[in-house]
Amino acid sequence: MSQHGKNHMPFRDVRPEDLRMPDLNPYVRTYQDFGPPVILGGDAPDFKGDWGRAFGRPGPLHVEIGPGNGFYLAGMAARHPDRNWLGIEIRFKRVVLCARKIVKAGMGESARVTRYDAWWLDDIFAAGDIQGLVTNFSDPWMKDSQSKKRLMSEPFATWVAKALSPGGTWRIKTDHKPNVDRVVAAVTEGGLPFDINGRSEDVAGTGAPWDPEDDVITNYQSKFIKKGLPTHALLLTRRSD
Ligand code: SAM
Repeated sequence: MSQHGKNHMPFRDVRPEDLRMPDLNPYVRTYQDFGPPVILGGDAPDFKGDWGRAFGRPGPLHVEIGPGNGFYLAGMAARHPDRNWLGIEIRFKRVVLCARKIVKAGMGESARVTRYDAWWLDDIFAAGDIQGLVTNFSDPWMKDSQSKKRLMSEPFATWVAKALSPGGTWRIKTDHKPNVDRVVAAVTEGGLPFDINGRSEDVAGTGAPWDPEDDVITNYQSKFIKKGLPTHALLLTRRSD
């Protein structure tokens, strides 16, 4: 996906040798040297259409975009070690934290994390590559002037419809209700090929649209719980049309 137009530079991973002050952010080097389960962003396009190779085994690919500290990714990998779990995270430190969580959870076979920009996922995924997508607490970008940065939007939902295989699911959790409203509008008004399986305005109250046992509270979710704020959720399935 690359709908920002001609002024948007394509994603290019940064190596320490590209930087004038490579140690300003110590995580640039830690990320570069980490090794598995980190997949360097520069290598991620090699797996387009064949992500099983990145795991050394076939398996349904479940992708979390913006996994942050990796608590959810590692936790869900532990619940479903038969699936191949991939985190896509833009920030060096968070890629490293996520990789450490995966290692600590003993999920090095089932989970990987790469540094990539969620706006450039056509570089690394072919149509139908993904069987499960998760977006937890995507940045809301509240101001109108920031609207093009909102991942929870019609262009991104259109990309998800392409990347998910028929029957594949998309789980959304967010503190920001418009994030859910925009996706619902893209499906109902924009005619995207999804069934909406369920929606919740308060996961802790009325429950999630999925099995509550099959979930992990994310870092941001914990913060909102502490503030007494609800988590909104949406579950969609890619139709076969
Ligand atoms: N999902 C985590 C949670 O619920 O605790 C983190 C939520 S945090 C609000 C959003 C995450 O998305 C951050 O880790 C951020 O670095 C990542 N992110 C933001 N824009 C991104 C992009 N364009 N590509 C990949 N990751 C991105």
